[in-house]
Amino acid sequence: MTSSSSSRPMTQTVHAGATPDPTTGAVIPPIYATSTFIQNAPNVNKGYDYARMDNPTRQAFERAVAELEGGTMGCAFASGMAAISTVLELLPAGSHIVASRDVYGGTYRLFEQVRRLSADLRVTYADPTDLAAIQAATTPTTRMIWLEVMTNPLLQVPDIAALAAFARSRGILTVVDSTFASPWLANPLKDGADVVVHSATKYLGGHSDLIGGVAITRDAAIGERLRMLHIAVGGVAGPFDSFLMLRGVRTLGLRMERHSQNALALATWLESHPKVARVFYPGLPSHPQHALAQKLLPRGAGGVLSLVVKGGEDAARRFVTGTQLFALAVSLGGVESLIEQPSTMTHAVIPTDQREAAGFVPGLVRLAVGIEDIEDLKADLAQALG
Ligand SMILES: *Cc1c(COP(=O)(O)O)cnc(C)c1O
Repeated sequence: MTSSSSSRPMTQTVHAGATPDPTTGAVIPPIYATSTFIQNAPNVNKGYDYARMDNPTRQAFERAVAELEGGTMGCAFASGMAAISTVLELLPAGSHIVASRDVYGGTYRLFEQVRRLSADLRVTYADPTDLAAIQAATTPTTRMIWLEVMTNPLLQVPDIAALAAFARSRGILTVVDSTFASPWLANPLKDGADVVVHSATKYLGGHSDLIGGVAITRDAAIGERLRMLHIAVGGVAGPFDSFLMLRGVRTLGLRMERHSQNALALATWLESHPKVARVFYPGLPSHPQHALAQKLLPRGAGGVLSLVVKGGEDAARRFVTGTQLFALAVSLGGVESLIEQPSTMTHAVIPTDQREAAGFVPGLVRLAVGIEDIEDLKADLAQALG
């Protein structure tokens, strides 16, 4: 077993969770495509009995991500939403949640169109950068604060340590969806979060070739309960996707460095472009939480940035359909660059008045910056802006 938890971060991403296969010595954990495991006698086995409970390929990925997050347990899921919905099972029916007001659209849909009906969960949305607003939104039945490490698409950065400390003082769980940061840029458990979730579809997988999710905990009791829910509800990741997710982890550090470098260069350039009214990127000194972002995301601010093009929704539409290298597509976190219009694509599920209240302005465009050569990316955006 390679021990990497004391290594430097880049070494850790390459080695985390690695155990040579005990039967063959394979350096890379094989894809264990099996549903069941033979028993020597009733309930005497080699540590595995049925693959929903545990699968060695899935376990290798779970251990790697838990290690990178500074957690003690990871549960890999078939999608980010499966991870999120299982984390919500930690709550009793009738609970109240306080969530970021520009929460991921899929999470909003799960809150409002599913769990409101099936579990009577009630969610109040508040500005996550305003501690007093979050405090004011809590009620005696609040049991969870739901944060994103960077909000989407406005890239606001909440003070996770302060919010988690407040939540803890009230016996409220703090959950952080850290998809936009990946374990390379932020480790919210170290700031006091109780559960971290990722859509592994994005940076962890890193190549836009899978759907997956993961939830990580540090506290033993919460971890045990989540593991039970993982198995009981059953939205587990399969061995093929687990294999790809672990392969993604191996290059996470290299990719995140390049995503952050490219995004910062584009954000800086776009900010002074005559056709651009505004740029949202936590790595820019003009960002309202820039100082906090530097503390929370010391290795870079990630690959996602948003901008407002002059001329409103029509100009935004022309821009997103005029790029050649940036593909018009939702999602993020792959090596290739993507462009999208939140109001008609990723955030269409959120009612217009709520989008406006959250600060969406006409002309908003989101970029998921890939790892291509920065000069080619710049040239493509320059020609599309005209
Ligand atoms: C994509 C995404 C999700 C959902 O993940 P899936 O893998 O698509 O189910 C959740 N949160 C954030 C921030 C995301 O970007």
